[in-house]
Amino acid sequence: ATPTALLVGTGRGAQLGILIKGPEVLESTRRVDTVVLDKTGTVTTGRMTLHEVYAADGTAEEELLRLAGAVEHASEHPVARAVAGGAEERLGTLPGAEGFENVPGRGVRARVAGREVAVGRLYDTLPPAVSRAVDEAERRGRTAVVVGWDGEARGVVAVADAVKETSAEAVTELRRLGLTPVLLTGDNRRVAESVAAAVGIDEVIAEVLPEEKVAVVERLRSEGRTVAMVGDGVNDAAALAVADLGLAMGTGTDAAIEAGDLTLVRGDLRVAADAIRLSRRTLSTIK
Ligand code: ADP
Ligand code: MG
Repeated sequence: ATPTALLVGTGRGAQLGILIKGPEVLESTRRVDTVVLDKTGTVTTGRMTLHEVYAADGTAEEELLRLAGAVEHASEHPVARAVAGGAEERLGTLPGAEGFENVPGRGVRARVAGREVAVGRLYDTLPPAVSRAVDEAERRGRTAVVVGWDGEARGVVAVADAVKETSAEAVTELRRLGLTPVLLTGDNRRVAESVAAAVGIDEVIAEVLPEEKVAVVERLRSEGRTVAMVGDGVNDAAALAVADLGLAMGTGTDAAIEAGDLTLVRGDLRVAADAIRLSRRTLSTIK
């Protein structure tokens, strides 16, 4: 009798827009008490746009944006798309870049017009004026992207994305199921807290490097919590794999989809609550 009930569960899942790897994954959802939510692309749209550009004395804003855009052109990261897309829109065709190097969770480096350009969070120390620009951007809830070349940080471009319309309702539904939501992100604390406040999450873990996301999920599990993780990025894949239940956004990367137990086809976070409700119901039918 057990397999039949489980297969009915997976069929209903498909109707709701949930792809289930195998019927046995539903078993893991029974005791889930914590839902870890990735921020960018999961709670937010992941479609970032370019806002303010700030250049320190001696650097033209246009040049700063042009070099940043040229470097980010080669990256698929949502931050990179905002910077490259915004630069192209404001300045037209960008110069070519070579020797592109991606530093996961931090940014990118490349050579543009004979300069070694770094974009993201790649400098250990910032000149006071650049540091103030970072503060100002973060106060506005933006992700501050530091831009520099030849060993010196020279300015900031500010990008931001929007919280998905359905995210606050999804968090309410997850709470109603008795789950504690946790926001997990590589982004800065102020941005993370403003997103958490907008959707009703109290527990925020920010400024986590991609490889540390797994460790966060493992730590929560070692504290006795049963953890579902929802994510979309390459940097979420390992955490999705170690979670008791991994839910991948269908709008996300192949790496996340392969690592997850379930895929939320439309990328709607409310379906995470549907998935947990469905599997609980399926399991109680079996009982
Ligand atoms: P999240 O955990 O929210 O999905 P990531 O771990 O991918 O975010 O990135 C964390 C932070 O690293 C970003 O908020 C950004 O500050 C920086 N970063 C990552 N990639 C880039 C890039 N290509 N350009 C600039 N900054 C980047
Ligand atoms: Mg993400």
